[in-house]
Amino acid sequence: MLKVHSRCDLACDHCYVYEHADQSWRDRPLFMDLATVEAAAGRIADHATAHRLTAVSVVLHGGEPLLLGPRRMREVLQALRGRIEPASRLDLRMQSNGVRLSEEYCDLFVEYDVQVGISLDGDRAANDRHRRFAHGGSSHAQVRRGLGMLRREAYRRQFAGILCTIDLANDPIAVYEALRAEEPPRIDLLLPHATWAQPPRRPDGRPTPYAQWLLAVHDRWTADGRPMSIRLFDSLRSTATGGHSGNEWVGLDPADLVVVETDGTWEQVDSLKTAYAGAPATGLSVFTHSVDEVSVLPGIARRQTGLDGLAAECRACPVVRQCGGGLFAHRYREGSGFDNPSAYCADLKELIVSLNARMTAEPAPVPVDGDGADLPDGLLDRIGSGHTDAHAVRFLADSQLAITRALLVAVADSGPASTRAGWELLARLDQEAPEAVDAALRHPYVRVWAVDALRHAGVDRGAGSHLSCVAAAAAVRAGVRAQIEVPVRVGVIHLPSVGAVALPNPATGTATLTVTPESWTIRHGAERARLVFDGDPARDPQVVGARWQASRRLAFGGTTILFEDLDPFRDCHDWKAAERVSAPEFAAWGEAVARAWAAIEADVPHQAAGVRAGLRAVVPLVDDPTGTMRSSTARQAFASVGLARADGPATAVMIVHEFQHSVLGALLDLCDLFTPEHTGRLSVGWRNDPRPIEGVLQGTYAHLAITDIWRQRARRAGADSVAHERHQQYRAWTADAADALLGSGALTPAGERFVGRIAEALAS
Ligand code: SF4
Repeated sequence: MLKVHSRCDLACDHCYVYEHADQSWRDRPLFMDLATVEAAAGRIADHATAHRLTAVSVVLHGGEPLLLGPRRMREVLQALRGRIEPASRLDLRMQSNGVRLSEEYCDLFVEYDVQVGISLDGDRAANDRHRRFAHGGSSHAQVRRGLGMLRREAYRRQFAGILCTIDLANDPIAVYEALRAEEPPRIDLLLPHATWAQPPRRPDGRPTPYAQWLLAVHDRWTADGRPMSIRLFDSLRSTATGGHSGNEWVGLDPADLVVVETDGTWEQVDSLKTAYAGAPATGLSVFTHSVDEVSVLPGIARRQTGLDGLAAECRACPVVRQCGGGLFAHRYREGSGFDNPSAYCADLKELIVSLNARMTAEPAPVPVDGDGADLPDGLLDRIGSGHTDAHAVRFLADSQLAITRALLVAVADSGPASTRAGWELLARLDQEAPEAVDAALRHPYVRVWAVDALRHAGVDRGAGSHLSCVAAAAAVRAGVRAQIEVPVRVGVIHLPSVGAVALPNPATGTATLTVTPESWTIRHGAERARLVFDGDPARDPQVVGARWQASRRLAFGGTTILFEDLDPFRDCHDWKAAERVSAPEFAAWGEAVARAWAAIEADVPHQAAGVRAGLRAVVPLVDDPTGTMRSSTARQAFASVGLARADGPATAVMIVHEFQHSVLGALLDLCDLFTPEHTGRLSVGWRNDPRPIEGVLQGTYAHLAITDIWRQRARRAGADSVAHERHQQYRAWTADAADALLGSGALTPAGERFVGRIAEALAS
């Protein structure tokens, strides 16, 4: 954060810079001169180079940065972009009161791609309570004029959002409505700065008035369908499912912010000004000290240690992973310093517990068409930020089931007569045992068959319909009696996810299959076969007149997934599916997948629940002759990944990568993220040839998760490791691709929001 100007044209009485304990602004130069900007930029660039950072953020702050004037502002932006950008991607932001925003400034911000946040406390009455000029006059009209400018088409992309400081005297709904009317992409609701020495105002003696105020906003925001991000709520929702908070107000994300004052001195976050005089001071300067020298100072290093850096009371708190002890400055108490819970502890606890209860009670989302605005609350944001939590994955799986059911209706309506028997049995079972039908239809390759059948609608291939096999599998699952004609493919009858019966005669045709809970009987021309089950599905049946091949399952995260090397429709991946693998080979797969699960839990624990909830099948692929890793997802086969066998850590990467494709494919079934008419192609780091938009979107989303894996592995392996190289490479590829997508003009509003979340997740 660069304090480019030390004075402000407003005199807000709640400002921590001028009105709180630290008054060091009085001795600072009025503005940051160019030599200081260049020195700061040099330090940032050197740090990015030394640590091979692919992106850094610089926020222009004050005082009021617009007091610099357009000419000096241009010099600052030029110096920052010119010095830092050769070393690392630069995310440039500015926080302003908006009073002096002009077209000249906005054009400059477009030219240098600066994201602008504006401070506004609500409607005129709310804003006038604190945000006034020194002469007492209102700033409301000027700020709203500035916000109106940022809403214009030409400048809209530079509008970062609104920052609002809460005052209990303001009606929460009126504040929310006033902020919403400005159409910001994001709102930051900030608790007014307080410490145990200067406790939060609680005018009417209620114990948690800030929690109640925020909950009122939250409920209105939810009722409105969450039209924009409210960072505090999104952070708490994200951390509730193990994700990042993305900010220093809540959660355990390491703080990575340092401040440069107008004279070039390094400081800690300036919210500390609220604690005591000199609290943010470091005694170091950009002219004499590097970022590394600043970042090892105890006050900064402590804020990177997560749970370990918190007070004992916080470490024992049941909501600590979401709360994180609140803002560091709010923990201050004379005597014990910052080794305390937040002065807002009671409010934070109440807010988090209440929000979690609301999340748990949210009705199961229903599938919808249309753009992202119609999707269930927060789904686009949660998936976009890479947190494929179990709730989101189950929603997608249910929507996929609904699509498969709709496809079967279409097949039955348009298909050949051979589909009729399967359809009628499924319809009967849907009344008697709907769970068994659902389980059969969730097999990933049922949809692959249905799409293929629709492509060849009206063509009877003469071997009966696979729908009969699906229905027979449902009957087996339901444990009911049924008789049906089923196709025989080269002597084999397939029951998806149950197994296959190989008959002696390798002919193609149909057979009559009779299933009961105890046995199956097959009549195929003159052939007879019988399978007798002893009631234990884990044991092979006694078989007469045929050979039995059971569907096998792999242990995965406390559950099991299908090892699909039988289904006749599985060979739809980029590489050929392997034939039925031998028992020793299957055992080797079991070990590889178990090790992959351990690696997923260690590397991306916040992804693990989603992968476990969603992944249904692994299809073994034929090995690459050169030993190159192979993995693949088929667009119509949700939650099934094709893999060539590799070691556990490599298999973990491939599973997470391919599962991301499945998740995004399912999301694209519900919501257009790009306009299909867009035929342009984009260059990406991971391929030599320019890619179509959907390919870039899929690659970007998959690589977001892979970046996260390598981030964790790099943390363990250290800065000189291969893991570190990989992390930097994937992060750069993903960030560049997200940028390219956002600048392509091909994304729908939902797509922009989704890719924006990807970019934020990378930056967090
Ligand atoms: S709710 Fe209170 S005790 Fe719990 S983590 Fe937050 S500040 Fe600490």
